Amino acid sequence: MLDLAIIGGGPAGLTAGLYATRGGLNNVTMFEMGMPGGQITTSSEIENYPGQIEVVTGMALMEDWPEQCKRFGLKHEMNEVSQVTKNGNTFNIKTADGKIQEAKSVLLATGSVPRRAGIPGENKLFGRGVSTCATCDGFFYKGKEVAVIGGGDTALEEAVYLSKMCSKVYLIHRRDTYRAAPSTIEHMKKAENIEEVTNVTVEEILGDNMGVTGLIVKSKESGELKQFDVPGVFVFVGRDVLNDSFKQDDGSFLCDVNKQGEIIVDIGMRTSTPGVYAAGDVRIEAAKQVVCAAGDGSTAAINIIEYVG
Ligand code: FAD
Ligand code: NAP
Repeated sequence: MLDLAIIGGGPAGLTAGLYATRGGLNNVTMFEMGMPGGQITTSSEIENYPGQIEVVTGMALMEDWPEQCKRFGLKHEMNEVSQVTKNGNTFNIKTADGKIQEAKSVLLATGSVPRRAGIPGENKLFGRGVSTCATCDGFFYKGKEVAVIGGGDTALEEAVYLSKMCSKVYLIHRRDTYRAAPSTIEHMKKAENIEEVTNVTVEEILGDNMGVTGLIVKSKESGELKQFDVPGVFVFVGRDVLNDSFKQDDGSFLCDVNKQGEIIVDIGMRTSTPGVYAAGDVRIEAAKQVVCAAGDGSTAAINIIEYVG
């Protein structure tokens, strides 16, 4: 019987593993389907992690985290969790190989994946000029022109954020009306250096060995093609939380989720199901930053230690 099963080995899961083992839990396993480190390992540069003065790759930032956890006894099982179910006061953790392990408590830290738009060139150039995080990567385009793809709250808010540091922002949207809130649209329209490019489809994101060089859009009305020579393309077409493994056979969830599928937690990272906690990008109102995910992980672990007793 595990004291704690951590599902996901990103910043949230790893920090929870560190705090839980160092805080006295003896039998803690972190299930991570890939290499520990999480989505930040796909980022080419990170410069907003506190105390990290040098700009490093996401991979370099996360390199030592698993080793630090291992020293305090965290076990890492490289396996995909296919389903977590409740079994009385404990939980069954079923992995992709069909094995079932029991745990007294569970931390859901599976993160989220930015939705890809499905544009040719997008995947190949992801992390090399194609980004889904303006807070993280906007600074690299200071004084340069960038493109933002999307018409929701995130795209418009991030376009405004980028307009403060970039010389120009092309806001590229597939329709001529936005999904974003009216006040956000109004805010965006006030930014003089945002050029709206609406009713278009993005045909291709262009690049070379150095990264993104531009993108080509096609007007839905005239079919006219237009090229924008930008070194940065920000794709904000929605996000998907990874919550499949928390679905029960009857279609319900292990704990309450909102309509986006994000796990509802209280300030202590407790979910609606006693013994189940959530941390990081997978939870409601996540700030979607490494430092926040790590903070959630530590908060959850401190409360889990008390719960397990
Ligand atoms: P994740 O990092 O998503 O980790 C979740 C882990 O769970 C993954 O490793 C996944 O493989 C694993 N997992 C999922 N499902 C299962 C399963 N069923 N079984 C087993 N394992 C599973 N943040 C910053 O603070 N600064 C930055 O500069 C920055 N730049 C970014 C650049 C890019 C390109 C991206 C994509 C993100 C960036 N972020 C940045 C955001 C940051 O990476 C996330 O907020 C953070 O990683 C969230 O951590 P997490 O632990 O909640 O989830
Ligand atoms: P979203 O609301 O789902 O918007 C995604 C946008 O991307 C839409 O405009 C959509 O176009 C476009 N899009 C989707 N797939 C595309 C594709 N393949 N190619 C090109 N464009 C594509 O996502 P979001 O902006 O990330 O917001 C998610 C949720 O968080 C929403 O409920 C939002 O209101 C909320 N949110 C709120 C705030 C706030 O309150 N301040 C801030 C951010 C987010 P269409 O419009 O044509 O569908």
